[in-house]
Amino acid sequence: MKLENAFTMDTSSIKYGQGVTREIGYDMEEQGCRRVMVVTDRNLGKSDPIAVTLEALRGRGIDAVLFDQASVEPTDVSFKEAIAFAVKGKFDGYVAVGGGSSMDTCKAANLYATHPADFMIYVNPPVGKGTPVPGPLKPMMAIPTTAGTGSETTGVTIFDYLEMGAKTGIASRALRPIRGIIDPDNTRTLPKMVAACTGLDQLTHALEALTALPYNRRPAPDHPRLRPAYQGANPISHVWASRAIEMISKNLVRVVEHPGDDAARGEVMLAATYAGIGFGNGGVHLAHGMSYPVSGMVRDYVPEGYPSGHPIVPHGMAVCLNAPAVFRFTAQADPGIHLYCARLMGRDVSRAKPEAAGEILADAIVDLMRKVGMPNGLKAVGFGPQDVDKLVEGTLPQHRVTKLSPRPAGPEELRQLFLNSMTLW
Ligand SMILES: [Zn+2]
Repeated sequence: MKLENAFTMDTSSIKYGQGVTREIGYDMEEQGCRRVMVVTDRNLGKSDPIAVTLEALRGRGIDAVLFDQASVEPTDVSFKEAIAFAVKGKFDGYVAVGGGSSMDTCKAANLYATHPADFMIYVNPPVGKGTPVPGPLKPMMAIPTTAGTGSETTGVTIFDYLEMGAKTGIASRALRPIRGIIDPDNTRTLPKMVAACTGLDQLTHALEALTALPYNRRPAPDHPRLRPAYQGANPISHVWASRAIEMISKNLVRVVEHPGDDAARGEVMLAATYAGIGFGNGGVHLAHGMSYPVSGMVRDYVPEGYPSGHPIVPHGMAVCLNAPAVFRFTAQADPGIHLYCARLMGRDVSRAKPEAAGEILADAIVDLMRKVGMPNGLKAVGFGPQDVDKLVEGTLPQHRVTKLSPRPAGPEELRQLFLNSMTLW
């Protein structure tokens, strides 16, 4: 087997600063756009960031049309509604305002309106065909209103495929927004629990990007076009992910306790983008792979202070509930990098033994989770040992990410990881 010997760094252009949302009219005009679809979800339709965005676009004479029906947990059905809207609207540009789901919906709308195809054609295998996107899309810009998806920098879109009850997605460099607009003004009203979950999501993105299987231990692609967006740990993703871990570990508790702290909020938002560059190129692995069935199989858990008000295990929560067990397991593959992660989180590892690496990192994560009010393991969100078979079954199809685990994890290992995630402290 020939191994990979190349890696790329793909990212969106980034504009950061308080109030930069007001420049979106200029930004889209510069791309030659005259008719723009603005995508957001139902909760944000009347929000300030949307009002500012529409005003800025219209102020430059751009015909801006609002689609405020993106689903907070997107599905193939909700994607298709946005796609139909996009096809009918004949837009020459796209702006997403919101969390990961608005951005993901916008990417899908742009993709299928630009390169029409049967829905399953571009969807990741084994669920879909995984056919490469044939060419560039229309210009899309993303304005995150949560800190923590990093979706503004990635070419990935995730949704629930209802027929199979599985999370899957589409991954292609073509889907990447051309610019992410990072404006701390847009996260000022973020509820505490949302800030905590999205912050821990980006922390896990960065930890997984650093500890993923290195790019040069992956099989080489048969054609450069088939090189995956998630390439494995590499020297460039290392830089961005490392800095993201430091910034989040230092600022997340402050953001959750004092939402009015502009400086801390700005740091965490910028860190989300850094983490996005890290994992958008390096990839994520088991904590993400295992999180999809956890979110998908929720029964009646309603997180305190979450705006949706219906049962949900938010993505960031699902990811971090599995993270301590995952890093205890993967540390064996490369104790050095796991100790390095713990050091970035503020632990003194100068005298740490390699065999303690997993425990030290897991402990640092649990400590931060407790400080920002996360539930104590999968049991606290309604799961028990009787659910483990189903959780494993839901993780196995997530090849695109689980195969980047630095230590192979089959059904038996996954079983144990879920059991170890039932209670964390
Ligand atoms: Zn994530």
